[in-house]
Amino acid sequence: MPGYSVEESADIDPNILIKHICCICKMLVRDAVQTISCGHIYCRQCMFEALEGGSEACAECKHIFPGEPTENTMDRKCYFTDGRINTAVGGMPALCVNRTNGCDWKGTISEADNHRSVCSLY
Ligand SMILES: [Zn+2]
Ligand SMILES: [Zn+2]
Ligand SMILES: [Zn+2]
Repeated sequence: MPGYSVEESADIDPNILIKHICCICKMLVRDAVQTISCGHIYCRQCMFEALEGGSEACAECKHIFPGEPTENTMDRKCYFTDGRINTAVGGMPALCVNRTNGCDWKGTISEADNHRSVCSLY
């Protein structure tokens, strides 16, 4: 699953938003990992797909990923889980993407996935 839809985020300062965007899917980062070499942010899934696809450099800055490719792609030591970013993104205020169709749900980004599965307008 790629990142969270930016449309779901409500009233977030664009300067803050831009620091929480995945380099690959350009959405709000989901399950964030940060590259060790250059500090760029990816969704775990996007990083996995990049490595699986044989990518050897950061999509954002072309910095070569450190570490050797391993048998298990996700064991490669070229990134770490960014808990700070995850907490920040999960707590961002969110609105339903169907708000223009009349859904007035409000919550946080971490709650938006749940809402999407119950929203009658999806
Ligand atoms: Zn992503
Ligand atoms: Zn980078
Ligand atoms: Zn809704």
